[in-house]
Amino acid sequence: MKCTTPGTALLGWSRLSRTLGGAGLLLASLAATETPPARRFTAEQIHFGSLVRITVYAGESNQAVHAFQAASARIDDLGRRLSDYNPDSELNTLCRQAGRGPVWVSDDLFRVIEASIAVSRATGGAFDVTTGAVNRLWRRAREEARSPDPEALRTALALSGYEKVVLDAETRTVSLQQPGMQLDLGGIAKGFIADEALAVLRAHGLPRALVAVAGDIAAGDPPPGEDAWRIGVDSPPVIALRNRGVSTSGDRERFLEHQGVRYSHIVSPSSGRGLSDDLTVTVVAESAMSADAWATAVRVLGIARAAPLLRERPEITVATAAGAAPGRPESDAAVQ
Ligand code: ADP
Ligand code: MG
Repeated sequence: MKCTTPGTALLGWSRLSRTLGGAGLLLASLAATETPPARRFTAEQIHFGSLVRITVYAGESNQAVHAFQAASARIDDLGRRLSDYNPDSELNTLCRQAGRGPVWVSDDLFRVIEASIAVSRATGGAFDVTTGAVNRLWRRAREEARSPDPEALRTALALSGYEKVVLDAETRTVSLQQPGMQLDLGGIAKGFIADEALAVLRAHGLPRALVAVAGDIAAGDPPPGEDAWRIGVDSPPVIALRNRGVSTSGDRERFLEHQGVRYSHIVSPSSGRGLSDDLTVTVVAESAMSADAWATAVRVLGIARAAPLLRERPEITVATAAGAAPGRPESDAAVQ
């Protein structure tokens, strides 16, 4: 993990960044027996191509370093197991057994799939991790700067459908009922991983922490003397939150431009097409995992169709929405 300390030593595997202010000066005058006041430490690292930024308040730099190392190991492990890019991931091992009955999975994988299906049900399938085969076609199309073959898209779409995922919490098994089904957790896993990294920091005695996995952020207890973490997003510029998650879903980086239409890396599960309206939404929820999934879902539904669902769920709020006129329904422009 890459961390920076203004003008000081390398601490183990990390360089630490800490805010030296009043707290640092106060430290020098404290009796040795007293607990040092918490200082801010920040670490940055690239995991699975995403920038992970962890901020904690700790009395000792060693405590921060140990917690960073443990959180980093957890992030790495989850990233490897939940990835649909890695052929050996636990996720892809499960998918290879689609159509062959129930498969025992780890608690982590079970929890993410269970949460995914819950959001699918709550959103009428706008959020759907079974669109993996469709997403792969779009991914390849983006790489090759062309639109996906309509016939291949139809075949891939026939392999999707969250109703074909059967979960048994008692035996912790997942059954993908159609051979060839491919799950893609790209719309929820980063939020889950941020929550899990935050839990590791808490277990290391550092509850005043913030974990950002790209645009998916888990906020713990607030900084000392403050009532909330203040997180910069586009508009309004700052969101204040504690013990909650926030996620932004949009198409700033990954999209396909074809014949003047910009297709998102987020697909409409009903049509199999990349979204072509230009909406960016930021959602706040009780966890980063929930915020991540709901941000993707609201991106698919559009604000107007999401509004009644969100009214029933006060714990989930759209903090910002930009790029498409509020109230505009999802636009599924046809692929030529
Ligand atoms: P980002 O990955 O940019 O943070 P999201 O959280 O919205 O954005 O996730 C987008 C990813 O989710 C896509 O790259 C794809 O892997 C997956 N995905 C695409 N469409 C859907 C969908 N309708 N429901 C669930 N996951 C989706
Ligand atoms: Mg998401």
